[in-house]
Amino acid sequence: MTTETAVRPGSAPGPGAAAPLPLEAAGLDLERRLAARAARERAAVPRVAVIGAADVLRREEPQTAAARAAATVHLTADAVLVGPWGGSADTAACGCCLAVRWQRLRTRTERDALETGLSRSAAGDWPVLPEYTADAVWSLCRLTADAAGGALPQVTRLDLETGQVSTVPLLAEPLCPHAPHTPQAQVTVEAEGFPASREKPAADRYRLRTAGGYDLPAAALANPVCGVLGAGTWSDVTSPTTAPVAGSVFMRGYAGLTDVTWSGQSHSFAASRDLAFLEGLERYAGTHRRDRGGIVTDSYDNLGDAALDPRDCGLYAPETYRDDPMIAPFDPSRPIPWVRGWSLRDDRPVLVPARLVYYSAGTAADHFVFECSNGCATGSCLEEAVLFGLLELIERDAFLLAWYGNARLTEIDLGACRSPVLRAMTDRAALCGYDVHAFDNRVDLAVPVVTGLAVRRDGGPGTLAFAAGAAFDPETAVEAAVSEILTYLPHLPRQVTERPAELDAMAEDFGLVRRLPDHAALFGLPRMARYVGSYLEPTAVRPPAEVYAEWEDRRPRGLDLRDDVLWCTQELARAGCDVIVVDQTAPEQRRMGLRTVCTIAPGLLPIDFGWARQRALTMPRLRTAQRRAGMRPDDLRESEVRRVPHPFP
Ligand SMILES: [Zn+2]
Repeated sequence: MTTETAVRPGSAPGPGAAAPLPLEAAGLDLERRLAARAARERAAVPRVAVIGAADVLRREEPQTAAARAAATVHLTADAVLVGPWGGSADTAACGCCLAVRWQRLRTRTERDALETGLSRSAAGDWPVLPEYTADAVWSLCRLTADAAGGALPQVTRLDLETGQVSTVPLLAEPLCPHAPHTPQAQVTVEAEGFPASREKPAADRYRLRTAGGYDLPAAALANPVCGVLGAGTWSDVTSPTTAPVAGSVFMRGYAGLTDVTWSGQSHSFAASRDLAFLEGLERYAGTHRRDRGGIVTDSYDNLGDAALDPRDCGLYAPETYRDDPMIAPFDPSRPIPWVRGWSLRDDRPVLVPARLVYYSAGTAADHFVFECSNGCATGSCLEEAVLFGLLELIERDAFLLAWYGNARLTEIDLGACRSPVLRAMTDRAALCGYDVHAFDNRVDLAVPVVTGLAVRRDGGPGTLAFAAGAAFDPETAVEAAVSEILTYLPHLPRQVTERPAELDAMAEDFGLVRRLPDHAALFGLPRMARYVGSYLEPTAVRPPAEVYAEWEDRRPRGLDLRDDVLWCTQELARAGCDVIVVDQTAPEQRRMGLRTVCTIAPGLLPIDFGWARQRALTMPRLRTAQRRAGMRPDDLRESEVRRVPHPFP
């Protein structure tokens, strides 16, 4: 990588006269040489911009952005990018879109150098552009000038080291620093008619479109030049249980750059790839707001009833706020950013702290909690996305109620399930040396939640693995829990043998459980089995037909997805929770026919990672839910709480 300083080595800058950076000097030189060629052929002179000398994720000066937007040749330290060219009027993108997408795909070192203001020094004049490179760039300019190239704008990359030429599509960046390329739709969900009537394919089908039914622009989503979600995807062809496909990208959040991985784990690589892209887009929409406007900055004290009180969604223990320098208690008098949501229970707009919705963004003023993707979901319409968001909230709440509340659950006899897919999955788990169990994890809400547990037969490392699923159809919930477990099984033993001392220390001192992967890895230690007695010795093992007989009699069986959403809303309202929906859909998703929402049900136990950051432990619902469910006559006593980090993956 080439790093730059404001001073060009070897040149003594006069007072106030900054010499151009080496990359900028090379850009000016290239533009001059292209102009000479254009003059000879009486062609238009291509404008050259450089990418990689300045942080383009921060707003550039309007003049700089305008010049970049107009450029059709972009010089980086290792390649010349020609374009964007082709495309149609409604997919137009510019040089700024390209520069932003390019920068997001750089390595951690490059991004930190560009974005955190670290001091840099030049390693010399770079890049070196011989005449034949200028000739090649000029040829590409001529070739692409009038080319059509399909529906999306294209970018052609000339590698400065190998001379290799490749072309990739570019999607317009919704936060393009030059100008918006898509009309900024500020339509509220209620103006769209949400919740609208949506006919289901069948009473027991809740997805209106399959994951493979979207026209996803795969090459624009993942490519090494300007991929929306990352530089590429990889398939794990050695996995004995599923056909995993994954990709990743660095996202800058309040904790610096984090590696955001998105994946699909189905039974074929093609199906997994579709799922991976859908998950990647969901993260893309949920980590940061991809639309300008719509943010209200005010204090809760001022907004009052128009806003959700974030304290209803749970807080950390007081000592966490005292000891953790990354967070500060919620201050109702302090102005923080809010976004618009819609209360399904009360049929009214409600402002929601942006911190609870966009889980990688945040400002210094609103760091009262770390949120994750819990309750975020994607579908072909708002109603479908909301239903799956709510099912996720219900699933995590139930899992935590049973874990921290030490609830005794009924085991479901997997041998009595009808699903052949399930049978194939338990066979594959057996192949890995694991027995699989599933538990009826309903507490006070009627929706089937199933917790799956895989137990390593020989008691070796990677001993236990948990996962959960929620669905109106009980066997679908069982399948969801077991299929998620299958995705972890092949890696479990290694996760323990890679860092045995660290995990042993966590088992001694739960305070050392800090990150998401720590929770599941900890239960790979054979010694942790002593904390999971309530799962290893269930109250009973019963066939699903018996466990869910009552549910099957009363479950909603309509053909309208809206009714299912409203049924869930009522069920949550019965437990004292509002249901709030925030539309997170990114403009890119909207074009693909996708919607992403963040659903919030204040009062449900939220999933958190890190032992010091367990909001669930402070919430009233942990004490009352089992009594409400009729599972016990009284509230849970403090001494009965299982004060052990949850094993949720
Ligand atoms: Zn643009």
